[in-house]
Amino acid sequence: MRSELYIDGQWVKPVKGGTCTVTNPATEEVIQTIGAATAEDVDLAVKAARRAFDKDGWPKLTGAQRAKYLRAIAAGIRARQAEIARLEVLDNGKPFPEADWDVADAAGCFDFYAGLAEQLDNNPEETIALPDQRFTSKAVREPLGVAGAIIPWNYPLLMAAWKVAPALAAGCTVVLKPAELTSLTALELAAVADEAGLPAGVLNILTGAGSVAGQAIIDHKQVDKLAFTGSGPVGSKIMAAAARDIKRVSLELGGKSPFVVFEDADIDKAVEWIMFGIFWNQGQVCSATSRVLVQDTIYERLLARLIEETKKIKIGNGLDEGVLLGPLVSKRQHEQVVAAIEAARQAGATVACGGARPEGFDKGYYLQPTVLTEVPLDSAAWVEEIFGPVVCIRPFKTEEEAIDLANDSRFGLAAAVMSKDDIRAERVAAAFRAGIVWINCSQPTFTEAPWGGYKESGIGRELGRWGLDNYLETKQITRFVSEDPW
Ligand code: NAD
Repeated sequence: MRSELYIDGQWVKPVKGGTCTVTNPATEEVIQTIGAATAEDVDLAVKAARRAFDKDGWPKLTGAQRAKYLRAIAAGIRARQAEIARLEVLDNGKPFPEADWDVADAAGCFDFYAGLAEQLDNNPEETIALPDQRFTSKAVREPLGVAGAIIPWNYPLLMAAWKVAPALAAGCTVVLKPAELTSLTALELAAVADEAGLPAGVLNILTGAGSVAGQAIIDHKQVDKLAFTGSGPVGSKIMAAAARDIKRVSLELGGKSPFVVFEDADIDKAVEWIMFGIFWNQGQVCSATSRVLVQDTIYERLLARLIEETKKIKIGNGLDEGVLLGPLVSKRQHEQVVAAIEAARQAGATVACGGARPEGFDKGYYLQPTVLTEVPLDSAAWVEEIFGPVVCIRPFKTEEEAIDLANDSRFGLAAAVMSKDDIRAERVAAAFRAGIVWINCSQPTFTEAPWGGYKESGIGRELGRWGLDNYLETKQITRFVSEDPW
């Protein structure tokens, strides 16, 4: 397990010597002490990233040359997949098969952006047709500089990959800060990049508090772009900092995503996808479909099946065989989710199942998967993101009512619809005000497809070719070609 900061190709202790502890959420035991970076460390990292960008030539490499490093990082992750996945479980609590999946996905993300880096070489400029024949003009895409990336704790390695891979592919250099709760696999990523021979300063990874190290990154004048995934309130701060310095910014924030199930849907399949949509990763998923709307004619039957299946979920340490639901990431998160369930009860909701610490678990931040019914539409449980294994479910009568309920949110990250009627499913998909829409499923995520939210769920898109655009500027070069004087 790594513990130091990775700055300018070196493992270093924080200038001021600060540390923070890493706790295993399954056992509540401290498993590591890591560096707590301050503004001094951030300054060193940004200067290294600046030099790597401005002087050392990272953006001047061809896309194919950069792709070699990205593929080497992908291979390095895969070579240690099980070890890194185990570390993710110890740090975050998620079941091992989920962590293993995430790590494979992170490797795939580096491979995917290696491919896009290579394509940059084939398509570097676009000729622009001008009405004035005395001029020619072209548009070229260039890396935008030093990216400051700040990520949350729910997908520690994968969120790092979603930022680092497109940034490096585009030719940017990076200063990344993982969430203080889950920094271990980001440090492993630094180790993998180091082994892959990535030039010093191209990728710098600093652990530490958001209010200190994170704040120093967003305030640093020599950072050109801020890429953030996390909560809305911190997203606002980041956008304010970006506005002050006119930095480029992309934000991936929270959600309260709806899942609409029509009466012609297969009830067993619907229950499976509903559970996947809210209990995967203990519901700590920004795109979790946490508001389920079911047509009234099948509501009671579906609810009964959902409760029956939810009660069967095996809860436990993510390293144990067959576990489907691990602990929440931290004591604080556990307290917040329990408080949200209690507030829902106070507001008049019914806890149809779950809602408490499972029996036999004295240690660890465990919580039963929870189904809430009769949740008032103006209650926090219906309106606010809970970020835990808690689903609100209610009946609807008509398609129009379902769409109105689905869109009645300040968020717009994801939405799902289930129906055997393809025309209706497409119609509802078109009506959703959300950046990610699933038909007859919930949550499958592909590196190739754009990811991001409408409304307060964020700005910009990650993944796919859209993810690369986040790290590129567009320059026009116009030439006077006439023999005549201007
Ligand atoms: P958070 O906003 O508290 O923290 C995210 C990151 O920001 C952490 O690294 C933290 O240290 C840092 N940070 C905190 N204060 C900062 C500051 N003042 N300046 C700079 N950085 C600062 O969020 P969290 O609790 O880690 O994650 C949960 C939230 O993230 C949820 O609301 C969830 O919906 C959202 N999320 C969104 C997506 C998405 O793709 N849209 C993905 C995952 C999580």
